[in-house]
Amino acid sequence: MASVSDPLLLEETFSPESQEAVAQCVRDAYESNTPVYPLGGETSLDYGCSAQMPGIGLSTRGLNRVVDYPSRDMTITVEAGITMESLRRQLEAQRQRLPIDVPQAAQATLGGVLATACDGPRRFGCGTIRDYTIGITAVDGRGTMFRGGGRVVKNVAGYDFCKLLVGSLGTLATIVQVTLKVVPIPEASRFVVQRLNSHAEGEQRVAELLQAEVTPTAIEWLVGPAWNDLPALPSSADDTPAGWLVVAVEGTQTEVDWMTERLVQRLASPTGQQVVQTTSEQTATIWQRLSEFPAAEKHPLVLRATVLSSAVADLIEAFRQYDPQCSIQSHAANGIVLARFSKFEPADIAQQLIARWQPMARQASGHVVVLSADPSLGLTRQAIWGGAGDDWPLMQTVKQQFDPKGLLNPGRFVLP
Ligand SMILES: Cc1cc2nc3c(=O)[nH]c(=O)nc-3n(C[C@H](O)[C@H](O)[C@H](O)COP(=O)(O)OP(=O)(O)OC[C@H]3O[C@@H](n4cnc5c(N)ncnc54)[C@H](O)[C@@H]3O)c2cc1C
Repeated sequence: MASVSDPLLLEETFSPESQEAVAQCVRDAYESNTPVYPLGGETSLDYGCSAQMPGIGLSTRGLNRVVDYPSRDMTITVEAGITMESLRRQLEAQRQRLPIDVPQAAQATLGGVLATACDGPRRFGCGTIRDYTIGITAVDGRGTMFRGGGRVVKNVAGYDFCKLLVGSLGTLATIVQVTLKVVPIPEASRFVVQRLNSHAEGEQRVAELLQAEVTPTAIEWLVGPAWNDLPALPSSADDTPAGWLVVAVEGTQTEVDWMTERLVQRLASPTGQQVVQTTSEQTATIWQRLSEFPAAEKHPLVLRATVLSSAVADLIEAFRQYDPQCSIQSHAANGIVLARFSKFEPADIAQQLIARWQPMARQASGHVVVLSADPSLGLTRQAIWGGAGDDWPLMQTVKQQFDPKGLLNPGRFVLP
């Protein structure tokens, strides 16, 4: 886990116990022109550029209360410092869940998950954290508390602040309270696993699954040594350079049985290749491993590319050509490729990341961002975020409105 002192230049850290105390803390910082670095569980502080200016840490961990849980309305209002594990336990008691897969859930906070807007494998069938967020209370760069959305599902009038704050990496406001819609926990869950003979076959299989009559919860394409000991895989990584397709189905027991049967039929023909289905114990282990992959262990470089799903195979091939020991988790139907490299040299920043992979992703209507990197690489903003897009002027105007002095997480995001 990253330590506070690593990527941020913190002179002092405050841990307010109330939302009003967070606002007061930011007001004081505004008066004294002091940069503010919001902190959640501190699991992802190396995501984004390093801080350039010393400032204060503003921990939200003291904000961890459940404010309201009308479970029959399928909504919950909680403070933003609640950990994802604690939230999961609250919801599980009512047989409900927030179907967002997050690594290090015992430390990661809801506010941090919203600020980083990362999504896991269930994104394909269940959507993103943005989709489940119906209300946010936050404190802007002047220390003013504001609310967007509300506590009921249909409640958006005017500008939708909730969606704006999700993924803004704490540069527009510090999130202090969140209302989420939640869903029932499905009765059953299972994976269907197939070995892939080539990247072309992987691409074709994913395209077929998008047309299939079944509705998978996740369509994962896994490649490389990180997956060698995953249960139920029909071969080792050395024998399977193109990797495995791992498809999840969830629902009632009858639905899961029916979807499994259909998937096995579809994937087995026309090659007659072996298709494996998981036991419930294997299913639980695989969900856990899929959730933890991006953050598990330290690597010289961890990238996240988002492209058209038709470009996933080319990107996987390019990453593996550069580093045959690279391990990949692709939420393939969503066009997301997470790559953990076993090596990455400073010269490769220009030669691979900027000259090859970023343009490949742009050509496929996407982008590449660095999730974490060895600090000795000294990555630039261009290398980490891939440069500003066409929405740059609009983003600057929005930033100016929320944080006129530029004190919230200065320099850490796409904007300098
Ligand atoms: C290498 C790596 C890869 C990851 N990849 C994925 C992935 O692919 N999918 C996935 O689901 N998860 C992923 N995660 C995890 C996810 O990003 C974290 O779970 C999430 O950021 C919550 O972490 P935290 O509470 O520890 O936030 P922190 O690490 O404390 O903060 C992360 C960022 O959010 C800001 N922040 C934190 N709290 C708030 C708040 N209340 N208001 C405003 N800003 C705030 C911070 O300023 C900081 O910039 C990854 C994590 C790592 C380390």
